[in-house]
Amino acid sequence: MRAAELLRRGRAALLPSPDADWDARALLADAMGAERTALARRLADEVPAAQAEAFFAAVRRRAAGEPLQYVLGRAWFMGLPFVVDGRALIPRQDTELLCEAALEQGRRLGARTALDLCTGTGAVAVALARLGGLAVTATDISAGALALARENARQNEVSLALYEGDLFDALPAGLRFPLITCNPPYLTAQEMENLQPEVRREPALALFGGADGLDFYRRLAGEAPARLVPGGALLMEIGSAQGEAVCALFSGWNPKILRDLNGLDRVVLAQRNPTMEGEEAAWSI
Ligand code: GLN
Repeated sequence: MRAAELLRRGRAALLPSPDADWDARALLADAMGAERTALARRLADEVPAAQAEAFFAAVRRRAAGEPLQYVLGRAWFMGLPFVVDGRALIPRQDTELLCEAALEQGRRLGARTALDLCTGTGAVAVALARLGGLAVTATDISAGALALARENARQNEVSLALYEGDLFDALPAGLRFPLITCNPPYLTAQEMENLQPEVRREPALALFGGADGLDFYRRLAGEAPARLVPGGALLMEIGSAQGEAVCALFSGWNPKILRDLNGLDRVVLAQRNPTMEGEEAAWSI
């Protein structure tokens, strides 16, 4: 069958989704081993039966509600390729703000190391290592997510120190960092009930932040001081309605809210007081 006919059938199977055309093109290009941008030039090509079958199988998965990135098995974050599957959240474009702000803080502090909590696919950790040249430690409570992060570090040719466990509990005693990033689960119980069908395919463990969505920020406010050198920066992704509440939890930390490209509150930057006596400064680490 020709590519144009496959595309027509795939698109029809994905309607009425508004993304039917986009998704069908992405899946067909993938099945044909072509760049998405090359598909338009190859629509008259006869597609081998095995590739056509792979395309229809992918369309069926997408039509059944699986996110496009899970079907493709990959996603892009900060211009870097990541392997993705149901073991971790798909990297979001919104989260690039967390990463960009962390890179900026890292430069400002002259940091050589960083810690990424709730690393999931490892997107933030890998990007900090790859684009910021930082030696990155990352933790996650999910063994599956850590395996994915390990794979993504390998594919992007960086090495991460990965630890399995609950937030800071995963870390060896005594390790401290000038820079900590965290994109914790932050959806409320109410939001979990109203998830879009695609998001339901992602692990609830990576999404649910307790009744009011703030459980992890409370723990971070309590536990981060022991892991952050004085003057160090803690950057957290937040839900767009959580800015005020999270800043209140970090009231002694000179918290700042950063907005994403949609103008929504998306990141809180908090700094540990630099003038604690008897402790080395952030930039010496
Ligand atoms: N931004 C994600 C969503 O709305 C939630 C991510 C998270 O809980 N860290 O699906």
